[in-house]
Amino acid sequence: MCKTVYLSLGSNMGAKITNIKNAVEAIGAIEGIRVIKTSSLYATEPWGKKDQEGFINAAVEIVTSLTPGQLLERLQEIEIKMGRQPSEKWGPRIIDIDILLFGDEVLESRKLTVPHPHMRNRLFVLIPLEEINSAIRFPDDGMDIKEVLARVIDREGNQGITKI
Ligand code: ATP
Ligand code: CA
Ligand code: CA
Repeated sequence: MCKTVYLSLGSNMGAKITNIKNAVEAIGAIEGIRVIKTSSLYATEPWGKKDQEGFINAAVEIVTSLTPGQLLERLQEIEIKMGRQPSEKWGPRIIDIDILLFGDEVLESRKLTVPHPHMRNRLFVLIPLEEINSAIRFPDDGMDIKEVLARVIDREGNQGITKI
């Protein structure tokens, strides 16, 4: 059965915009995945580890017949093929592809946690995600994406996110 899945993409090395576009194309070329929607691209400030280049971020909606584990593997293969090197936590990267939501599944293992554990605090994730589907509800606590987004903006301002 096909599930609707939301991904977050980020790049802060090399040709960042091209990296995001190439990653979306590579995701769409995977057997068992169809890309439904891609958000605008956003220029964002580094989160967590500030002393590095700014990022380009986007969110993508896909439908997939893959299992969560299979999807994660395919996405990690794309990251490696595009030249991602192991680096420090939250450090610079050519491409980062995270699984935000996998249907209404709630999973927690070392390899894969969904909903993504940090997504509720990251405007660079929430803003593009809300752009592609403002009706999303979190499957674990039932919260509405608009509500989550408004809370972070209230607390922290807009974290330096600009649509490009
Ligand atoms: P963050 O997860 O805070 O955004 P990161 O993206 O920099 O950090 P990575 O080094 O890309 O972290 O990934 C570390 C590991 O996180 C991966 O090997 C993967 O097994 C695991 N992981 C857990 N949950 C997820 C998820 N929802 N999406 C992608 N990877 C995940
Ligand atoms: Ca990430
Ligand atoms: Ca990641």
